[in-house]
Amino acid sequence: MCITINIVTAQGDSLNFVEITAEKQPNMTILRVALDVPLSTLFDYKVDAAIVLEIGQRVVVPFGRKEVVGIALEWVVESDVADAKLKSVLRVLDDVPPLPDELLTLLKFCSEYYHYPLGMTLLSALPTRLRAVEPMSLKQAQSYTLSVAGQAALLNELAKRRPVQQRILHALQHAPMSGAALRNLATTAPAALKALLTAGWVETCRPSPSVTHVFNNAHALTHEQQHAVDAVTQQAGFACFLLNGITGSGKTEVYVHLMDAMLQRGGQVLLLVPEINLTPQLEHYFRSRFPDVELVSLHSGLADGERAQNWLKAQSGAARIVLGTRLSIFTPLPKLSLILVDEEHDTSFKQQDGLRYSARDVAIFRANQRGVPIVLGSATPALESWHNAHTGRYTLLQLTQRAVQPAALPVVRCLDTSQLPLQEGLSEPLLTAIETRLQRKEQSLIFINRRGYAPVLMCTACGWLSECKHCAGKLVLHLKDRTLRCHHCGAQQRVPHACPTCGDADLKPVGMGTQRIEEALQARFPEARILRVDRDSTRNKGAWDAMRKQIHDGEVDILVGTQMLAKGHDFPNLTLVGVLNPDGGLYSADFRASEKLFAQLMQVGGRAGRADKAGEVMLQTAFPTHPLFQALRAHDYPAWAQILLAERQSAGFPPFMFQVLLSAEAKQEGEAMAFLKKARSAAVELKKQVEVYSVIPATMPKRANHYRAQLLVQSNNRKSLQNFLREWKPQLDAMPTKQIRWSLDIDPLEF
Ligand code: ADP
Ligand code: ZN
Ligand code: ZN
Repeated sequence: MCITINIVTAQGDSLNFVEITAEKQPNMTILRVALDVPLSTLFDYKVDAAIVLEIGQRVVVPFGRKEVVGIALEWVVESDVADAKLKSVLRVLDDVPPLPDELLTLLKFCSEYYHYPLGMTLLSALPTRLRAVEPMSLKQAQSYTLSVAGQAALLNELAKRRPVQQRILHALQHAPMSGAALRNLATTAPAALKALLTAGWVETCRPSPSVTHVFNNAHALTHEQQHAVDAVTQQAGFACFLLNGITGSGKTEVYVHLMDAMLQRGGQVLLLVPEINLTPQLEHYFRSRFPDVELVSLHSGLADGERAQNWLKAQSGAARIVLGTRLSIFTPLPKLSLILVDEEHDTSFKQQDGLRYSARDVAIFRANQRGVPIVLGSATPALESWHNAHTGRYTLLQLTQRAVQPAALPVVRCLDTSQLPLQEGLSEPLLTAIETRLQRKEQSLIFINRRGYAPVLMCTACGWLSECKHCAGKLVLHLKDRTLRCHHCGAQQRVPHACPTCGDADLKPVGMGTQRIEEALQARFPEARILRVDRDSTRNKGAWDAMRKQIHDGEVDILVGTQMLAKGHDFPNLTLVGVLNPDGGLYSADFRASEKLFAQLMQVGGRAGRADKAGEVMLQTAFPTHPLFQALRAHDYPAWAQILLAERQSAGFPPFMFQVLLSAEAKQEGEAMAFLKKARSAAVELKKQVEVYSVIPATMPKRANHYRAQLLVQSNNRKSLQNFLREWKPQLDAMPTKQIRWSLDIDPLEF
């Protein structure tokens, strides 16, 4: 049984999709199963009368010569497959409860909106462990309570136990507690708990759903914060709020108060964050605010088993706060009552392969589906979100002041590199400013978005440049291990002693990377303790954590790093941020480049002077009068957004247009182009209300030995674009594409 329902997306467009219903009719004996195969169809199987199964359960079925896991989606009366050929479901995985209808409906919407096969969509949303044919073994969430012996011991003050054991006994005096809450009492709590269990003073019990929770309310909210909290908590049903707060304005504090309100109502809260690097820190932080609330995190840094267990805790409703990166938007949450998206403008919410979804957009859809509020937080919202807030689709909540007085916003200055000489990429005023910080024992951060020593190596005699054989890019010089490396395909070679073309030995690094800046600063300030933070220096597990500690403990004077340093870190003794050569983002072919640059500079600038010390930001640029820098100096995101929106409107770009990008790549030059040209003709012949652009080479026209090209189609109406895609996609599927890989990207962020 399927009912077509009509849903209006948060963006205000109405879309039809099919809701999945679960009941089995008496004469329906054939099961439609979703499998992880690149076809837009479901697969039919017979079900033995003895097998009991529900829609949403995982089943093991024969497929080709293999046994694979699928998801039971619907019952039907008959199949197109001849009865004799129809195979049977082998077994049902009833280790975990079936996927709820709500999640199936959400994934079905994603499959239709992103034009990606339903089976692949459904299975890619499951934790790896649940995609395996072996059943999961479930760990029950444990709670602990005092045993009779434990109570007696405590009463008779027999409890001459170690301090941490003592603390556990006292904590359990009032009520049973979860393992997670007990672990929060001390780092050695797990060992102490074990000792108490062995002694028979503590025993396990079934967790009882708690109605009350502890909330460590650290601050009285500012007026602006209180207004934001009230607006969301007073909302009945769906609404999308855009929380636009300058860095340090206390957005996190707003999230915490919202969580408290929703927990009081017995709900679950989902917080999406962009970076897996940040999740452990945030997890720790939220646990400290809600010490007895079950909180789980979900991100790709977890081991498969742990991730599956956390997912199940969310599904059972036991986990009240779920903190995760983009994939966690597909977690079943029976009591979901609020979704928070932190740094909503961050492009890592967009998946760049497979199901190319935007977790933020899916989150809005999900909140709408569930009838709950959603809050998008950012200092520099995506223009799409800002636009929606101004057309009234979202409610704008603003935090215009820093929460901690007197922390003022940093002073932003441009250093004109067309006038000032540079030594190894650094101007004298910047070096002087660093020197002052060294004298005052404060920290400086030098931000340069290029890792390696130099972006390219050049022969001064013949002009040879180090190029990648496999890509249309340059090999980056890494001096630490004397290699030339391609940052696109990973190819690596040793630095040649002489020019491969003319044999001249005078090879020069051109341009600046983090390693070169580190070296230049060390030469200038031999006493300074310099730390480089980029993907190379943080490759080893735990490296970045250790570095963060070093910075906090004041063991570092100067930080040199890429955007890794820009995000969400709070270094109280940091008072200077220097930005080297941001100019590439000003006049880029990518129409989003300047939007991204502004967000990045606001974010990195926000690192300066957060506590009681004033901060300073120095930008080395050849275009100091560019409006981007003017807005940055004035800390005026709204002014900048207005300029960009006007540009986008006159150029006909998002958010005024909706786009789809068809990309193709092939080993033979010209094949991708040829495929796209055919696709283009098909698109034009459909005569839909869409603009079909010309086929062009991709921004990176060759990568890892594949030639790449793309075709952009856009419309000023999301629904028209979807109507077009529904007819175009089957035509693409039918085209012979043996040597070609292609993909559709709906609402693309990268070209
Ligand atoms: P944002 O996420 O907006 O950059 P944070 O939430 O990290 O800002 O808050 C910045 C700092 O201000 C933190 O140290 C936080 O503890 C503090 N803070 C937040 N709200 C308040 C408040 N109402 N009163 C005092 N301090 C606050
Ligand atoms: Zn040469
Ligand atoms: Zn390469």
